[in-house]
Amino acid sequence: MSVLRVRGVVLPEREERTFWLDGDRLRTGPAPGGDAELVVDGGFPLPGLVDVHTHPGTESVESPFDASVLRKHLLEHREAGVLLVRTPGTVARMPAWVDGDAELPRVRSAGRWLATPGRFFPGAGRDIAEDELPAAAVEEASASSGWCKVIGDWRWDEPAVPLDLLTEAVAAVHAAGGRVAVHCQSAEGARNAVLAGADSLEYGMHLDPGLLDRMAAQGTALVPTLAAFGANADAWYARERSARRGDWITGWEGMLANVCSAYEAGVTVLAGTDSFPCGTVAAEAAWLARAGMPADAALGAASWTARDWLGLPGLTEGAPADLVAYDTDPALDPGALAHPARIILRGRVAH
Ligand SMILES: [Zn+2]
Repeated sequence: MSVLRVRGVVLPEREERTFWLDGDRLRTGPAPGGDAELVVDGGFPLPGLVDVHTHPGTESVESPFDASVLRKHLLEHREAGVLLVRTPGTVARMPAWVDGDAELPRVRSAGRWLATPGRFFPGAGRDIAEDELPAAAVEEASASSGWCKVIGDWRWDEPAVPLDLLTEAVAAVHAAGGRVAVHCQSAEGARNAVLAGADSLEYGMHLDPGLLDRMAAQGTALVPTLAAFGANADAWYARERSARRGDWITGWEGMLANVCSAYEAGVTVLAGTDSFPCGTVAAEAAWLARAGMPADAALGAASWTARDWLGLPGLTEGAPADLVAYDTDPALDPGALAHPARIILRGRVAH
């Protein structure tokens, strides 16, 4: 079998590097003798795209988890160059076979959505009483990839999960070595998530920009899923005036402004899609750039920054052999991001 080799200008360093693929590892040292095949010859390799907010397995919260749908969704991600995903809530816990399937992207799951009464679609997540939240959060994080997902608020005019309870849940998960993602769309929900020390705010609609410095200091990431909201924006603006419409538009415009301010304040802003079909994280990177993040930072939010945040290195000696390569620099040509020239997952050429 020939040794597969990769050569190109690696991002984000923009440094010419050469690797050979040692199974699922990148090696920079001398390659073993014998045939060599250059599978990437020039161009711009990045350490794979990442979608940190996707819900593979079912396209409707009313449908049961389906193994073939799960596999289809994960393959859609892979075909787009998304080689790592985080699933902040699914209708069932991620089945063990996912990690063993070499054709599928790496998955960091958060178990089932944790829904306290009146919050979330009934029966879709794990429905619990409020006082069960801390223990259930530890259970989901321990049974998954270390993450759990709390529905921190639901209807815009109803109370969020109380701050003391959310604080207790986050502390319990942190004590168990896990991390907490919090769904928040109201000012109260976003504030409680930050003050409770959550690891990520999903959406963060109505987030008070006065909290961004605190987020940066304590390492709370922001996952705004702008493309998912942006898809509805025209319809909201076209609606008849109402309190709900005003609230949505204020929230949406605040999200766009917060993305740029958050980045400038040092908050880790990451790309998540929260939509179907899977494999559209390139569009979210474009939205982050449109909201004012520098091109490299918007691209990193959908690649190396997210990978690092989930504990995986960039394209260096000994790193997992995941990469996606482009003919042109995708930071300078965002349209290129959706068209990888080469995709390598776990040391195998996938495209
Ligand atoms: Zn979601």
